[in-house]
Amino acid sequence: MKKVLLCTKNKGKVIEFKEILDDFNLDIELVSLFDLNDEDDVEEDGESFKENAFIKANYYFNKYHLPVISDDSGLCIDSLNGRPGINSARYSGLGPKGNIEKVLEELNGKTNRDAFFICDLCFIDLDGVVYHFEGRVDGKIDYSPTGEGGFGYDPIFLVNINGKYQSMACIGEEEKNKLSHRYHAIYNFAKWYKKNS
Ligand code: IMP
Repeated sequence: MKKVLLCTKNKGKVIEFKEILDDFNLDIELVSLFDLNDEDDVEEDGESFKENAFIKANYYFNKYHLPVISDDSGLCIDSLNGRPGINSARYSGLGPKGNIEKVLEELNGKTNRDAFFICDLCFIDLDGVVYHFEGRVDGKIDYSPTGEGGFGYDPIFLVNINGKYQSMACIGEEEKNKLSHRYHAIYNFAKWYKKNS
């Protein structure tokens, strides 16, 4: 088994990555920043999801000299010219509820509610070669939040499941993990790794 470091401080993401990668039976032993008791803070000051994912991956690759995976994701709304985009986490400066309120206010009166979540996954192999994999889920922004599940913008992000629009906070973790932007990015990585390792 090859050790690969997953550069995240989000325990939910560690579980999600492990579950998806397990399905592929890869010869990867996923090690997390928790396993290494790493408390460094890496400033994500890139201008794109791709740059931010690389900044994190590159930092930990140089620190530990292990193959690394990192990801960066966010919400892009068509009629807001792609905002909140890379600023998704800190859009209002007032946390997830404030972010949702700000988005709904900015969309007030706009009929085009098309949006997507996007995830860039960066993998750096032991030789320092950099790869990127993308995942995306399309949807629409609702007029008010619904549901208790998920996190971030899930309560206002509607996905079409069998012709019915429901918020990502309503569909349950298992269903979300089968259609999310992160799922697609991890899936694309796993498929590639299986073929190329
Ligand atoms: P991260 O790069 O995965 O940490 O995501 C950055 C920010 O994008 C989060 O703090 C959320 O605001 C938003 N975001 C990313 N993925 C999701 C998701 O699956 N649901 C809701 N919000 C998300």
